[in-house]
Amino acid sequence: MQDCIFCKIVRGEIPSAKVYENDSVLCFLDVAPAVRGHSLVIPREHVENILEIPEDMAAHLHEAIRRVGRGIIQGLKADGFNVGMNNFQAAGQVVMHAHWHLIPRFHGDGLQLWPQY
Ligand code: C5P
Repeated sequence: MQDCIFCKIVRGEIPSAKVYENDSVLCFLDVAPAVRGHSLVIPREHVENILEIPEDMAAHLHEAIRRVGRGIIQGLKADGFNVGMNNFQAAGQVVMHAHWHLIPRFHGDGLQLWPQY
């Protein structure tokens, strides 16, 4: 997609701080992190949301989420991490290229995520 900001990141037209990549998936640090290490996992191919993701792509994304999550635990010495995804504008999706947020968590950090829950 020509105008999609995450497609531009995939093509290298916009810089990103990559934390992991393979042929199907790219993972990079969020430019406006909720906390240090807040990472995004995206498919290289443009799909808008979770409903458009084919099974084989889902398997690659799931594996990448686990890898980055392990990196957050081992590398940042986090006590846990949240995995979150906004689908469609009404749910808070701003970038219309499917992506998962991985947010490092620490005991007692007091971080309030998705307070509407
Ligand atoms: O889930 P949602 O669409 O609201 O989140 C988009 C995320 O993409 C935001 O957290 C924003 O900071 C991030 N972003 C980014 N790099 C960009 C543009 C947006 O990390 N160039």
